[in-house]
Amino acid sequence: MGEVLDHEPTVVELVGLVRMWRKDETKPVACPSCGAPLEIHDRSARPYREWYALTCGGCGFDRTVSIPLAAAVPGAS
Ligand SMILES: [Zn+2]
Repeated sequence: MGEVLDHEPTVVELVGLVRMWRKDETKPVACPSCGAPLEIHDRSARPYREWYALTCGGCGFDRTVSIPLAAAVPGAS
């Protein structure tokens, strides 16, 4: 973990960050644009999707990711 991307993170990459965070919520996930610890908030409010807000206090990175619950782990690996 901790690599800084040289492009706007794709949805797949954002989902990867969320999955990394879900594995161990005590471990900070690095912001993809500056490497500072990312703040991730679970905003899931509906039974069909998980919503996560990813924000970084360092660079102002601010994205929202939704993960359909039906899709288990498509293309992970
Ligand atoms: Zn950042």
